Amino acid sequence: MPELPEVETTRRGIAPWVAGFEINEVIIRHHRLRIPVPEGLAELLAGERIGEIERRAKYLLLPVAGGHLLWHLGMSGSLRLVEIGTEPRKHDHIDLVMSSGLVLRYHDPRRFGLVDFLKGDPFSDRRLAALGPEPLDDGFSGDHLYERSRGKRVAVKNFIMDNATVVGVGNIYAAEALFMAGIDPRVEAGLVERERYQRLAAAIKQVLAASIEQGGTTLRDFVSGRGEPGYFVQRLNVYGRGGEPCRVCGHELRSMTIGQRASVFCPHCQH
Ligand SMILES: [Zn+2]
Repeated sequence: MPELPEVETTRRGIAPWVAGFEINEVIIRHHRLRIPVPEGLAELLAGERIGEIERRAKYLLLPVAGGHLLWHLGMSGSLRLVEIGTEPRKHDHIDLVMSSGLVLRYHDPRRFGLVDFLKGDPFSDRRLAALGPEPLDDGFSGDHLYERSRGKRVAVKNFIMDNATVVGVGNIYAAEALFMAGIDPRVEAGLVERERYQRLAAAIKQVLAASIEQGGTTLRDFVSGRGEPGYFVQRLNVYGRGGEPCRVCGHELRSMTIGQRASVFCPHCQH
């Protein structure tokens, strides 16, 4: 599933060929994504110029004169740039033919992604209004986690994976950040002290920023259209390593299900 770093890399990868350019034509080959592609979208967008592309959580926002195109990649979606005239492959559902001379092409085998059109302030849309802070913004801090967690009995891992707490902390990033901060993922969120949340917030920023940085090395692939954007996770310390030795202390990493998600941690380093 595309996580926040992949979505941010997509934004950076497509922007030079999309932002500031006009949409010459919209080709919709498949209307039934997670929600139906809005009626009349092709006519609405044709001739419009796209402004600076924004990202909020895992949503991309493409501003045009009458509103914003809201795009979510779902479970298996990807946006790439291809040369005009490039034959569509199976599951290439939508093309925006840009005046830059490239086509922004949406590919989504499972069709859990969505494209919608928002009039007015996009951040008042219910899908965006309920979201917590961006993890890499200054508004996200250990103090935020501490204050929001008081009285919460949910496991700290589930607490940080909740989009209302902070956006974009998927299972991989939660596991890695908790290991880096030395916090047992099972501990009740409301029992974690302020200074430990400060370590955790710093660790979340670090794993996500490293992942985005790594994604930057694949940006040229957005223009060449080769392959799919991969996962940009740096060397993993715990995720997917259950039963293997901890890289820090050598103890066996433990694997268990927490809040219905597979979780790996070091019982020796994390408490
Ligand atoms: Zn350890």
